[in-house]
Order: sequence, then structure tokens, then C-alpha cells
Amino acid sequence: MDGDCLFCKIIDGSVPSKKVYENEWVLAFEDISPAARVHVLLVPKKHFADILAPNCGGYAEGASGASDARYVLELHRAIKAVVELTGVAGSGFRVIANCGRDAGQTVPHLHFHILGGQPFGEALL
Ligand code: 5GP
Ligand code: ZN
Repeated sequence: MDGDCLFCKIIDGSVPSKKVYENEWVLAFEDISPAARVHVLLVPKKHFADILAPNCGGYAEGASGASDARYVLELHRAIKAVVELTGVAGSGFRVIANCGRDAGQTVPHLHFHILGGQPFGEALL
């Protein structure tokens, strides 16, 4: 929990949100300014600044300490839950994690944008 973090406040309920899915590890809620017909934000309940922050061992030099791998697993599982709940699993969807300045990350709490409900074409990717 980071007291200054908007998404931590959404997780603890002090800032309201429209919840889509929740379990012990993650919360998914509607984006306040949707960029697609379906636009859900999926966040871990533990504060990580960005996608590089969770400690999953491996590449980082001398990586040690408590593993965050369970959060990574649960985020992946929750993507499946969210796309099934929102009805876009069959038609297709896009998952985006902005990281840092060049990507335009505005909220420094790891989050996945889950976008769907319409065709996106190949404009960006
Ligand atoms: P980023 O630009 O960091 O990848 O994405 C941040 C997202 O958070 C944006 O899509 C923005 O619309 C959304 N957002 C910002 N403030 C709030 C809020 O108070 N509530 C909700 N539900 N979404 C928010
Ligand atoms: Zn946070």
C-alpha cells in the first residue's frame, strides 16, 4: 500500500471504482476514461510501480527476497477471467501495460489495460 497512489486508494476503497473482478491478489475495474467499448484496468493488490518491479527471480543480478511470482501468475489468470466476464474472449482483445515516460504511463502502479468490444485493426501493432 502506497498512501499517495491512486490505484492503492481504489484497492482500499477510499476512491470509488466500478469493479469488474476481484480476488485476494488482484482487482479489475472500469477505466474512468475508456478508450474502447470495453476498457478494464487490472491491478495487483500489492503496490508495484510498473511491470519491471515484481521480483520473479531470474534475470536481475542477485535477485533475492520475497518472490512476487504469485502476483504475476494471478494477473495472468485474471486476464482470462476479465475477458470472459466482459464477453470479449471470443471476439478478441488487446492487453497493454505502459511502463515509464516514453510509454506514457501516468499512474505508477502496475496495471494492464484490457481493451476490446470493437476491432482495432493494425494501426499501432
Ligand atoms: P496509464 O496511462 O498509466 O497507462 O493508464 C492510467 C489509466 O488510468 C488511464 O487510462 C486513465 O483513464 C485511468 N484513470 C486515471 N484516473 C482514474 C480513476 O480515478 N479511476 C479509474 N477507474 N481510472 C482512472
Ligand atoms: Zn499503488
